[in-house]
Amino acid sequence: MTALPPTVADRTEAELISTIQSHLQPPPDWVVVGIGDDAAVLEPARSRLEVLTVDALVEGVHFDRRFTPPEAIGHRALAVNLSDLAAMGAEPRCALLSMALPASLSLADFERLAAGFGQLAARHRLHLVGGNLTRTPGPMVIDVTVIGAAKRRGVLTRRGARPGDDVYVSGAIGGAAAGLRQLRSEGAGTTLTGPAERYLRPEPRVRLGTLLGRNRAASSCMDLSDGLADGAQQIARQSGVGMIIEAADIPIDAAARARFTADGDDPVLAAVTGGDDYELIFTVRPRLRGRLRTVGRQADTTITRIGVCTPGSAVVLRHGGQDAPMPRGYGHFR
Ligand SMILES: [Mg+2]
Repeated sequence: MTALPPTVADRTEAELISTIQSHLQPPPDWVVVGIGDDAAVLEPARSRLEVLTVDALVEGVHFDRRFTPPEAIGHRALAVNLSDLAAMGAEPRCALLSMALPASLSLADFERLAAGFGQLAARHRLHLVGGNLTRTPGPMVIDVTVIGAAKRRGVLTRRGARPGDDVYVSGAIGGAAAGLRQLRSEGAGTTLTGPAERYLRPEPRVRLGTLLGRNRAASSCMDLSDGLADGAQQIARQSGVGMIIEAADIPIDAAARARFTADGDDPVLAAVTGGDDYELIFTVRPRLRGRLRTVGRQADTTITRIGVCTPGSAVVLRHGGQDAPMPRGYGHFR
């Protein structure tokens, strides 16, 4: 009989926590009490507001362990939260990590998950200051809370767009949706091409978001967790404007475009309704284009103008010479 590999059920909570800690950078001075006590204690950042957000990844809903490597689960659990901070113009500071783990999870996979989380945290100088570990008879749940900091005047929201503002998007969209299609059809043996990587390891636009906040170029901003169609409609609704989005100007990932076309789908519709890209959509007053150019020079991604805000409330996709209502984005409940 071969011995089964050890699982998380073979270790104490303290041992699992020290496994996580081995993948973290040493805490900075402002973490007065970190991991290991009843609660974390932090020194607030001077003259900054705190920006808080939480997001959970649930196995079977947000990821499929059959084709998502453990490092990618750890990476994505943090990335989706960093993306929300970026959308608010906030710099990442610290995180709390709460995990519900099936007893069958191997220690090796647990360690890889911690490594994926730790590597992304280190890159954005985000410090894990506490959390919780519990066993679950159900699917794995990775719940991450992050706290960021922003100057009062640098906070970005979904509410500031006005008619006449230009609409921009970062990077390219559709990659993650195409990657998910590929992973679903090819399974664990998938060759990790660009789109599959985009789905598994989204790169949150932290630098772009903080630059837009700091130089106050953007009048509104949000991240594209549920697709460009959803993002455009959220900003329009919350700002009380309409929008015209030019399909021909939307930057669509080239490999994704090929995949959608090969599948017999309209690449624009597939890209705008596909989720998980974690790019930023934002609006800019035309007179602040100069500020945006400064941001564009310093950001680590491209920025593309895709449309304009209009009076009224209609969000229109101008596609192949025709105006149509923007399709619905991805929704979790309906
Ligand atoms: Mg968001």
